[in-house]
Amino acid sequence: MSSKGRIKFYKRLDVRMALWYTVTFLTMIILIFGFLDYRFRHNLLKEADRLLVDEAKEIINVILKNPETLNDQLREYKKVVSNRRYYPIAFQVFNQQGNCIFSSEALPDFSFPKVSLDLVNHKKTISKTLDVPQKNSLFRLCTYPHRENGELKYVVQIATHLRAMQETIENFRGHLSIAFFLALFFGSIGGWLLSRKSLRPIDKITETTKRITATNLSERLPLQESDDDLDRLATTINQMMERLEESFQKLSRFTADAAHELRTPLAALKGETEVLLSRKRSSEEYQEALTNNLERLDFLTKLVNDLLILSQADEGKASLKIENLNFSELLKQLYEAFNIVAMQKKIDFTFFTPEEVLINGDRIKLKQLFSNLIDNAIKYTPDGGNISLIIQPEKDQVAVIIKDTGIGIPSDDLLHIFDRFYRVDTSRSRISGGVGLGLSICHWIVKAHHGTIDVKSQLHQGATFTVTLPTKPTGISPNIKQN
Ligand code: ADP
Repeated sequence: MSSKGRIKFYKRLDVRMALWYTVTFLTMIILIFGFLDYRFRHNLLKEADRLLVDEAKEIINVILKNPETLNDQLREYKKVVSNRRYYPIAFQVFNQQGNCIFSSEALPDFSFPKVSLDLVNHKKTISKTLDVPQKNSLFRLCTYPHRENGELKYVVQIATHLRAMQETIENFRGHLSIAFFLALFFGSIGGWLLSRKSLRPIDKITETTKRITATNLSERLPLQESDDDLDRLATTINQMMERLEESFQKLSRFTADAAHELRTPLAALKGETEVLLSRKRSSEEYQEALTNNLERLDFLTKLVNDLLILSQADEGKASLKIENLNFSELLKQLYEAFNIVAMQKKIDFTFFTPEEVLINGDRIKLKQLFSNLIDNAIKYTPDGGNISLIIQPEKDQVAVIIKDTGIGIPSDDLLHIFDRFYRVDTSRSRISGGVGLGLSICHWIVKAHHGTIDVKSQLHQGATFTVTLPTKPTGISPNIKQN
């Protein structure tokens, strides 16, 4: 079943686009055709008015030629104009007192309205359309005043019926209607085809997206290379899938690494317990085996705790409890605790802070951060070496330098040192007992405090870790994803 099959017809984007297009098109046609109709009618009426004014002027000319024989001449004139086929004319002439001095026979169904001299005195020519609804006839009446030296002499009332004009308009409207339906029909079909064509890539995007699951995240949406909005959408989805694929890969690598790390101590625990139970043992043997197993359980507990911290950090659930801390005091306490271990290895461990430094941060997380770094420095520094812990306050931030003279880190490994489960080489970890999660956790804690962590080292030449933290971090965001 196609993806569109399940969407209700009226909810489909192509249907809606086609409808919008048709409605817009329809509105435009109505407006344009309405305007054309209005202008056409207006121009025809103007033509009729010009004709009537010309006739009225002609009548005045006839009168002025010989006012004595006015009646005879107008009668002659009437004969000519009243028999016209398309615009037959009827007229009346009034003198300046408002008395009718000549009247032609009226047109069928039409009678002249009373002329008002007051109105004529104010306006030059008055034209109006008269409707006789019973007969479905329209007439155009023009009242034309003739003045001499500004004084009203005659008024000609002249009328014609507008049958010919009505026929022309009806004809025109008939053609407009045909054009209207043709435009609407082809316009709607065009709109539909256009919307189908422009939305076709969406079908492809939907089909491909449906096929993509966690197991085939490497599939990508096809691009039309048209550089349009849909291409941009497909590119954005592809980029998102790339990121998802990367995250899935990291996640499954993380799970596999975690399982691998758990398997060895669990197998050792099981093996030792099986051997222990294979026959009766002395209490010393039990004691020794249990001590070994306790060590392994300690290791497993630490590993599970580290995994928990990182997965909570990934999910954004590891919240920081920000408080105002005496940072130099916190580091001093750590120094004192770790100095006991350092002394056992005859390591010269020094601590330096120029002044009291206050900081806004999470006490437990910061303790964990610097414990990991100091612990590493002690672990990877051979007996008789040196370690220094230096606090360097700067403007709005504080730098903490942990410098040791230990075995150092090869430059190739420096890039990956903060990756999860990354260890420089397994022989070191066997000595240290770590699994390569400590620095990942440090990295997350520093990022969550909006700080930076940096390492400088060379093989056999010690390592220097520098942590820079803002003293008043704003907008703490603990859910920063790890590599
Ligand atoms: P681990 O718990 O295995 O020490 P970390 O994430 O803390 O894991 O460290 C990752 C790797 O970085 C370790 O395997 C170790 O080789 C190296 N490393 C970390 N700190 C130091 C250091 N101060 N000197 C030398 N190597 C170090």
